[in-house]
Amino acid sequence: MESAGVSKAVVVGLDPRDRETIDEVTAACGSRLAAFVDLAPAESNSAFVGEIVPRAAGLGETYVQCGSSQLPEDYLRPVLRIARSRKLPVMLHTGDFSYTAPAMMMGMIQEFSDVTFILAHMGSLAFVQDAIEVAVASSNTYLETSGMTSPAMLRRAVREVGADRILFGSDYPFWHPAVERARVENAGLDQTATRLIMGENVARLLEL
Ligand SMILES: [Zn+2]
Repeated sequence: MESAGVSKAVVVGLDPRDRETIDEVTAACGSRLAAFVDLAPAESNSAFVGEIVPRAAGLGETYVQCGSSQLPEDYLRPVLRIARSRKLPVMLHTGDFSYTAPAMMMGMIQEFSDVTFILAHMGSLAFVQDAIEVAVASSNTYLETSGMTSPAMLRRAVREVGADRILFGSDYPFWHPAVERARVENAGLDQTATRLIMGENVARLLEL
């Protein structure tokens, strides 16, 4: 974080059974780190949920597993109910494969219109136009920038969705935060949009 000039970070995909790591992350909560816990639908009634979920700033990153015959809203319903009752945003992995295409998630996003969704990687390059369309149609949706390499598509997202619903992300250790940051800061956006994306939006959303 220091080498990339990052002052605060969200740690995503934490295993809710890994209490040691959650303790380390949440001990710094409110200062430098916030925790997103990846709750499996089958575990949403487990005893540890009541203890772990109140310490989370959000849920995810998650997605419907390859080969599932269920719609995303049915597969993830137990997790979405927790997100709704706890007022926690849900981060969804998008891009790469057809089962992680943002358009697949439209029904779920619209059914759970009171839940905030974050589309990680904003569909990646393969599905970025889908991700923008879903976000335009659904005001409860944010787009996250990691791994989406096109400056032109980032500018389009700002024009069509608005800079106030785009969140900078690095997806470290998959991508380096300094590289991802350079992508956003050299995309030709104005200073206001860049400031929103680089931290003001997530600070407002997660009350960091
Ligand atoms: Zn992802």
